[in-house]
Amino acid sequence: MTHRIVLASRNRGKAREITDLLHPRGFEVIPVTQFPDVPEVVEDGHSFAENAAKKASETAQRIKQWVIGEDSGLCVDALDGAPGIYSARFSGRNATDDANNERLLRELESVPDDQRKAGYVCSLALADPDGQIRIAVEGTCRGRITRERRGSGGFGYDPLFLIPEYHRTFGELSPLVKRCLSHRARAFAAFGPRLSALSAEIAD
Ligand code: IMP
Repeated sequence: MTHRIVLASRNRGKAREITDLLHPRGFEVIPVTQFPDVPEVVEDGHSFAENAAKKASETAQRIKQWVIGEDSGLCVDALDGAPGIYSARFSGRNATDDANNERLLRELESVPDDQRKAGYVCSLALADPDGQIRIAVEGTCRGRITRERRGSGGFGYDPLFLIPEYHRTFGELSPLVKRCLSHRARAFAAFGPRLSALSAEIAD
């Protein structure tokens, strides 16, 4: 039996990855864009976890369904953790992935290779139809920022995010590899079993 669950994200790259990660557990992911009356959640939390919980809870209360909230981003050591929770708008409001990547390369221009370490973070929250948070987990993935874009896979900062063990960026690695290694994959490894444990309640 397939259970439907709503994803409170308008990011197509994330939605694709989350759909692939939850499909084997029997969950069909419905993007929030299928609910035209739901306004965009204001991301004013101070952490990934706060923003993920806010997205899940506010959306669930609005549509009275089970909702996953996801907040993620890139934390660069040499930039004291920036862009962090501001990753999507690093180069300004309505920023494109390309403009964000451009700004990151510029900010790290004079940073030597051995100081370009960074980590992706993914926070997930599940809210029930009353908006109560029932699951909250976080996953991380460490890597290094390259000096130029490499590959066209993934989304966001992926063409600049090198996995040292593979000598390739997430832009160059296959979706299958990213699905095993990424911050999102790690968060879902913790989230999945707990979600499955609630599936009888979700099916009601
Ligand atoms: P959010 O929608 O506020 O969570 O923004 C997440 C932003 O972080 C995205 O727009 C990307 O810039 C970045 N990001 C998060 N996860 C990934 C990923 O898996 N690959 C590349 N960029 C990511």
